[in-house]
Amino acid sequence: MRRPFVAGNWKMNKGPKDAAALAVEIVAAIKGVDTVDVAVAPVAISLAAVNAIVANTNLGMSAQNMFYEENGAYTGELSPLMLEEIGCTYTILGHSERRQIFGEDDELINRKARAAISHGILPIVCCGETLEERESGSTNDKVAFQVKAALSGIRIEDAFKVTVAYEPIWAIGTGRTASPEQAQEVHAMIRNLLGDIFTAEAADKIRIQYGGSVKPANISDLIAKADIDGALVGGASLKAESFAAIVKACS
Ligand code: PEP
Repeated sequence: MRRPFVAGNWKMNKGPKDAAALAVEIVAAIKGVDTVDVAVAPVAISLAAVNAIVANTNLGMSAQNMFYEENGAYTGELSPLMLEEIGCTYTILGHSERRQIFGEDDELINRKARAAISHGILPIVCCGETLEERESGSTNDKVAFQVKAALSGIRIEDAFKVTVAYEPIWAIGTGRTASPEQAQEVHAMIRNLLGDIFTAEAADKIRIQYGGSVKPANISDLIAKADIDGALVGGASLKAESFAAIVKACS
């Protein structure tokens, strides 16, 4: 049985003060939940303030992005060593906003995923198709290509450290969710592919989150599906009440 994993992506919201206040509320709201892994991903500048709140609680912390080098002339970037020092357990990688707005490609995301693992940071690797790709029937090809590329070179014994987040781009921040059946179909394809990349046994341990307008009202039907192991939540993670309701629905 895979332990559900719910992560809240706060995107470019909540500076240190507001982020700490939201973390306090979430910690209180999910107190006692011990059957789900939970994390929030604040902006980089709020990581220290959030860590001061979540350290030694059941709320984990993730970065939203990470560079693959340890230090050096990489203006504006954060290294795995820095994320570790500030208290991050996870980092989101390859979010569609990073791919589309900041031009990240599959090779870069793969370098980041390998660097995260070699430094003990657990990567949440995002993949997902555009509306055009879905409508032209190329969802599986696109997602499979992204997953294969992102995980290239990762050893079988490290496979369980990876979380894959399937996030159809047309469902992110649009209020349009993939139906549980649509999501399950892609999750099952990803799990099969993970079996080919690693082994069936390793694939069985890898958590695959669904992301795209997840809310308290739709999470129960999504999490009931065999290959949906949790959620990567954007908008609904900015309110403690809705985020905690999603977490509890997964417990
Ligand atoms: C996301 O950006 O990862 C996301 C899923 O956003 P939202 O829940 O707002 O659609």
